[in-house]
Amino acid sequence: MKRTQLFIKTRKDAPADEVAKNAQLLIRAGFVYKVMAGVYAYTPLGIRVIEKIKQIVREEMDAIGGAELIMTALQRPDTWQTTKRWDDDVVDVWFKTQLKDGQEVGLAWSHEEAIIEMMKQHISSYKDLPQYVYQHQTKFRNELRSKSGIMRGREFVMKDMYSVCLDEKQHETFYSACTNAYMRVFERLGIGEDTFVTFASGGAFTKFSHEFQTICDAGEDTVYMNSDRSVVLNEEVLNEDTLKELGVSRDDLTPVTTAEVGNIFNFGTQKSEEMDFSYTDKEGKKQFVYLGSYGIGITRVMGVIAEKMSDDKGLVWHANVAPYKVYLASIGDVSADAENLYKSLKSSNIEVLYDDRDARPGDKFADADLMGIPIRVVISSRTLEEQSVEVKLRSSEDTRLVSLGDISNYIASIEQ
Ligand code: ATP
Ligand code: MG
Repeated sequence: MKRTQLFIKTRKDAPADEVAKNAQLLIRAGFVYKVMAGVYAYTPLGIRVIEKIKQIVREEMDAIGGAELIMTALQRPDTWQTTKRWDDDVVDVWFKTQLKDGQEVGLAWSHEEAIIEMMKQHISSYKDLPQYVYQHQTKFRNELRSKSGIMRGREFVMKDMYSVCLDEKQHETFYSACTNAYMRVFERLGIGEDTFVTFASGGAFTKFSHEFQTICDAGEDTVYMNSDRSVVLNEEVLNEDTLKELGVSRDDLTPVTTAEVGNIFNFGTQKSEEMDFSYTDKEGKKQFVYLGSYGIGITRVMGVIAEKMSDDKGLVWHANVAPYKVYLASIGDVSADAENLYKSLKSSNIEVLYDDRDARPGDKFADADLMGIPIRVVISSRTLEEQSVEVKLRSSEDTRLVSLGDISNYIASIEQ
C-alpha cells in the first residue's frame, strides 16, 4: 500500500474527550475512528490488525475441530424468551428496536441462544455429535461505562465458539483442548506471558467459569495471584470456600489489575434443557446435549496490545499482528528506485507500507514510529550511492545499511 493511496492523516494530539491510552494512540496513528463513545470504526490500517488477530484465532479454532460460520446481528425475541434472557432486568445491555409492523427485534449482544436454536434443527442423533462452531461477529452491548477506548465498546468484535457434546466427558476433553488453544492464541499475539487462566464466577451449572486475564494497567478487573502464579482467581470468587477448594491461602495472594481477553463456560445440560436441545442415544433414549461457550474479545485484545506495547513515540506492534512488516520511506528525488524496491519487496511477499508522499523526512519517520511498523527502510540518494538502504527496527535505535540485492532476504530473516 502507498501512503498516497491511504486517506489517513496521523495527528499529533489525541481527541480531548478520549482518556484511554489505547484509543488515544490508535486514533492518533490512524487505525481507529471514533464515531461516538464506545463506538469505533477501523480504518484500512486498523482492519489489517483485526484481520491478523482473527486469522490467528481462526487457525487455532480450526486446529481443535472448529467450523466457522456467521450468525446475524438481528435477533428474534422468542429465541431469548425460552431462557428468560430477553428480559431487560435479566440482561441489562440489550439494544432493541422494532420492525415496521411493530414486531420487536434485538441487536445481538451474544449468540448463545441463537446458535443453539439453529444447531437444534440439524442435530438429533448421537451420530451427529460432537460439533464445534465459531464465528467472528459484531456484538452490541449498551454498556454503562465507555472510558476504556476500544477495550470496552458498545459495538465490538468477538470470536465466539460453541461446543455441543454427548456427555460430560466429551465436553471436558474439548473444554481443556480449547483452554490450551486459547493460550496458544495469546502466545502468538505476544501477550502469552502476561495472560492467565483465571477462576471466575460460573453459571447455574458450574461453580466456576474460566477467564483469560491479561495484566494491563488499563484493565477493569482485579485478579488475585499466588506467588508462583499457578493459581489466579477473579476477586468476584475470592471467598473462604474458593480458597479452600483451590488450596491457596489468602496471605499468598496479590491483587493485580488485568483485562479480561477471553472467557469460557460450561453450560452442562442446563441450557439444552431450557431450549429442549436433545438427541437420541444408542439405546434410543432422549438425552440432553452438553453445551459450552467460548469467547475472545478480538477488538479488546487489539486495545490491550496497544496499551502494553507502545512507547513515547507511539505504537510498537508485535510482528504477528502488525498491519505491515515494513515502512518504506523515500527521501528526496529517488522515486524510480523507491518504486522498484517497493515492487520487489511486494513480490517477495513482504507486506510494505510505502511512504511515497512529498513530505519531510522527519514527518515520515515520526509516522513510521507512531504507526508502530516493525521495520523501517529508508531509501535516499545517500544510501543509493552505496547501492543500499538503511534499516531500523521499531524496537531499537540502531540503524544499518543493507545492500539492495540482499534486502528482501534480510527482511525475511528478521523474526520480529
Ligand atoms: P466484561 O466483564 O468486561 O463486561 P463480559 O464478561 O461481559 O465482559 P463476555 O460475555 O464473557 O464478556 O464476552 C467474551 C469476551 O468478549 C470477554 O472476555 C471480552 O474479552 C470481550 N468483551 C466483552 N464485553 C466487551 C466490550 N464491551 N467491548 C469489547 N470487548 C468485550
Ligand atoms: Mg466474561
